[in-house]
Amino acid sequence: MTDTPDTELPEKRSPMLLRIVLIVFIALGVAVVWTSNYFLTERFTESTRNRAELRLALYSGAIVSELQRNSVVPLLLSRDPVMIAALNSGDYAATSQRLISYQKEIGAASMMLLDGDGRTVAATDRQNLGTQHRNDAYFVQALRTNDTVFTTTELETGAYEFTYSRRVTSEKRGIGVIVVEVDLAKLEQSWIGTSEAVIVTNSEGRIILATEPQWRGKPIDEALAERPAPSAIERAIQATADWSQTAPDAYLKGQALLRLDGRIPFQGWRLTSFTTYASVRERVNGVLALEIMGFAILLSLVFYILSRRARYQSVLFQRESMELRRLNKRLQREIAEREKVQRNLEVAEQTIAQSSKLAALGEMSAAVSHELNQPLAAMKTYLAGARLLLQRRKPDEALSSFQRIDDLIERMGAITRQLKSYARKGNEDFAPIDLRKSVESALQMMEPQLNKMEVEITCSLPKEPVIVTADRIRLEQVIINLLRNALDAMKDQPDRELDILLSLGETATLTIRDNGKGIEDLDSLFEPFYTTKAPGDGVGLGLAISTGIIKNLGGRLTARNGSARGAVFQVQLPLHRDDRSTRAAE
Ligand code: ADP
Repeated sequence: MTDTPDTELPEKRSPMLLRIVLIVFIALGVAVVWTSNYFLTERFTESTRNRAELRLALYSGAIVSELQRNSVVPLLLSRDPVMIAALNSGDYAATSQRLISYQKEIGAASMMLLDGDGRTVAATDRQNLGTQHRNDAYFVQALRTNDTVFTTTELETGAYEFTYSRRVTSEKRGIGVIVVEVDLAKLEQSWIGTSEAVIVTNSEGRIILATEPQWRGKPIDEALAERPAPSAIERAIQATADWSQTAPDAYLKGQALLRLDGRIPFQGWRLTSFTTYASVRERVNGVLALEIMGFAILLSLVFYILSRRARYQSVLFQRESMELRRLNKRLQREIAEREKVQRNLEVAEQTIAQSSKLAALGEMSAAVSHELNQPLAAMKTYLAGARLLLQRRKPDEALSSFQRIDDLIERMGAITRQLKSYARKGNEDFAPIDLRKSVESALQMMEPQLNKMEVEITCSLPKEPVIVTADRIRLEQVIINLLRNALDAMKDQPDRELDILLSLGETATLTIRDNGKGIEDLDSLFEPFYTTKAPGDGVGLGLAISTGIIKNLGGRLTARNGSARGAVFQVQLPLHRDDRSTRAAE
């Protein structure tokens, strides 16, 4: 039963503990996901940026090498004797074929040979034969200089044409111009798919190459503005979607982009690439999904373990409650048995009490008849003696016999008086009395005996009255009985000391101590008719009656042997109620 709180306490504590553990676990999960999201985004963004930078360098290199490869061709062809001869002779039969073979080797977009008037006399693309280029920049500029000229021409389609042209000289006279168109469009094609968008701008900031054809010819800002950056609301939605992303550099088709710029070491051109963050997000999300899954598995594992424990505990509780029920039933059975035994015991006790009463009655009648028979027998003898003495006319002697008979009658009267007092019940004479007065009057009554026996009396009484509720006569009877017993015990003693001490405390305590022979048998002391005195000296009723009287007053009579010698009798009586309350008030 006592261990109930011990078992209940962890039960009350565990849901709280569980809640804390769950909160900590979830907080840990959120923290791990958040941190790893942050670091992974950083790392993947960094690697995406690195890759984009690398790609940018490669693209730039490819453009430069393409341009360089093509730039030498006009020089070579302008010194080609076949070209010069054809221009001089006006026979261009084999020229186009020669150009086609060069074009294949170099990988140029197209080649043209223009005569001094700007007319196409030979071309890799036969459709161009005969076309007029007198006003084209690459023709006009080439004729003016001895160097190879690079020209960027915007076509009607919006696309750009990149050409290298050079004057063909014969006898210090410009007889024609060789034009090589650089195929940068193929690079443009190769960029599609690698990044979101790649742009090449010229020194004026105009887009000359772009993976988005419609951007060509426009400045970057204008091109990007075609697809306006998302509104604030759209941006907010975007930010929620890419909640951990670093601020994007640009927006394209509503997507946040990483913008990288690089310089092309050619005529102030610049290369710009836009890379989407989507791949970063995808990769980060992949890792995060794995982490979340891990946490979910852990959580479900914890729940599984907890549910198992709960199940185990409930089984345990069921078993315990079953045991408790069994125990309870057993206890109830035991209680019923005890009650039955108790009832039997009470009946037995009543029977025993009845029997002991009868036994006491028997004992008492035997003792009483023995006590009374003795003086009766003696009286009979004295009467016979007295009759004889009267017959012999000896009245004086007969008178002494009568005196003895009278003594015996007196003694018988004493026995019957004591028995009557023992049998008397009720508290009709109860009144508040001062115990000091009772002690004094008892001592007065005992004065002749005390004087005769030369007893040294020490009597100590308190100054204030000791009020108890009692029947005065009977209380004095008790004190006298105790004093007489003390004198009897000191009878054979040369020096007799009697201490009477009355003290006032919670109760009134009267102690009577003698230095007599002491009590022989403490167990039988208060039994009726227990006496160690010679027949005629005592009947053994004094203490039995005294105990009865003191008990009747609500007090206690106790006896013990003194530490040195003699006996100590103590009467404890409750104080009179008014007296008690005034004492308590004090
Ligand atoms: P009685 O005095 O007629 O013998 P009591 O009941 O007064 O009857 O005493 C019973 C017995 O208790 C006495 O016979 C005696 O043996 C013992 N007794 C009583 N008081 C004392 C005492 N002060 N010292 C020693 N023995 C005592």
